[in-house]
Amino acid sequence: MPGDGLVSLSASHHGRVVDNIVEETDLREWESQLYREAVKQFNLVAERMGLDDNIAERLRVPQRAIVVSFPFRHDQYSDVETLYGYRVQHLLTMGPTKGGIRYAPDVNLGEVAALAMLMTWKCAIIGLPFGGAKGGVRVDPLRLSRAEKQRVTRRYTAEIINFIGPNKDIPAPDMGTDEQVMAWIMDTYSQQMGHSVPAVVTGKPPALGGSVARREATGRGLVSLLPLAWQHRGGGSPEGLDVVIHGFGNVGRYAAIAAEQLGCHVTAISDVSGGLYNGSGIDITAVAEHVDREGTLEGFEGGDRITNDEIFELDCDVLMPCAIGGVITKANADRVKASLIMEGANGPTTAEGDEILQERGIVVVPDVIGNAGGVTVSYFEWVQDLQNYFWSESEIVGRLREIMNRAFDDVLSVAVRESVPLRTAALMRGVKRVADAKLIRGVFP
Ligand code: NAD
Repeated sequence: MPGDGLVSLSASHHGRVVDNIVEETDLREWESQLYREAVKQFNLVAERMGLDDNIAERLRVPQRAIVVSFPFRHDQYSDVETLYGYRVQHLLTMGPTKGGIRYAPDVNLGEVAALAMLMTWKCAIIGLPFGGAKGGVRVDPLRLSRAEKQRVTRRYTAEIINFIGPNKDIPAPDMGTDEQVMAWIMDTYSQQMGHSVPAVVTGKPPALGGSVARREATGRGLVSLLPLAWQHRGGGSPEGLDVVIHGFGNVGRYAAIAAEQLGCHVTAISDVSGGLYNGSGIDITAVAEHVDREGTLEGFEGGDRITNDEIFELDCDVLMPCAIGGVITKANADRVKASLIMEGANGPTTAEGDEILQERGIVVVPDVIGNAGGVTVSYFEWVQDLQNYFWSESEIVGRLREIMNRAFDDVLSVAVRESVPLRTAALMRGVKRVADAKLIRGVFP
């Protein structure tokens, strides 16, 4: 079983054991800390469900993983650097695969494989006709000029072009990528096909067949669950709650706006430059304007500077991690003061961190449902592109809320029936849908 280091990697199937040490070539290529976390989480759920062993083994590994390397010419014309890109399609059983593309300096195959697996569960929990995928390029987006980012995007797209498409695999934005990057992917793909193919990506600008309300969807979807989750935790109206948000990018910003609209006080936010605290509530409109102008929270005067570590330990009602993975761990979980955690980021809580939160009775709305608003509106966008028929903002927002609330209610009923935390309940629901579909499809040949 993956997860316990070198020796445990299914040596009988995958390699030769020499003096109890598996040769290094037998390491599965996507092994990483994050991947092990994803498998550990899956194993717990599979065991609890009594999942068929063959199905479980298939779901533990990605169905398709692509690694590419390509040359990237800097604006400084003489500099050519080799970059690495990844695309992992975890499961092709449910329909085309779907998942974001991230640009980050430390992105790797293991991280992308773990996130692709999470996407499979997320789509199944919500009931979308997709398997999970994820992609990335190992590059620091903050050091790229616009022209450089465009060159990286177009070449990466060209490298994976045979594996993506409206019926194959549909990328979307993730950390370090945005609507403009999706527009370049769509254009590169369309140039190669000889005609316009908007449905190859979601999260595009509306001018290219993007959906209105996609940009806000993940943050808005997360906060749409706040009244239900707060009620589940035993509270009343969410009005007046103190909310702390880690990350002020796409997800964090729109979560902050939606929380403010709900009557909450957003008392702290952060980005890669550090955090900002204001006990009486940060002015989100003003800080968003500052970030649009300066590209960072640094220099904003409407609060005190704090560190990204301190933000997790602030006194508040609700904590929303909306930046990177692995931030709530055994090192800080016992100092979290919030009684409700709503995960906007993917994988923000490690398995050990999660155990501590559970012991302390802190309710966690897990990523697989918390941030599913993004892929849900991406699904709407894909459907609209395929039909060339576009919906109004109110239709989209209404359907998003309905789907999110229904999924949350379903997950909650599993949690109550099985006496398990929301994360386990959500995964049980997602894994069951996928396992049923796999069993019905059978084994080829
Ligand atoms: P983004 O690039 O728009 O924003 C990321 C934010 O995190 C920025 O404010 C950045 O400064 C901050 N950040 C980066 N590194 C940090 C660090 N080390 N410490 C503190 N802050 C840091 O990305 P996003 O689209 O908002 O995605 C954020 C998270 O949400 C990711 O985990 C992503 O996988 C997940 N997610 C995004 C979407 C979506 O629709 N964009 C959907 C589902 C899940």
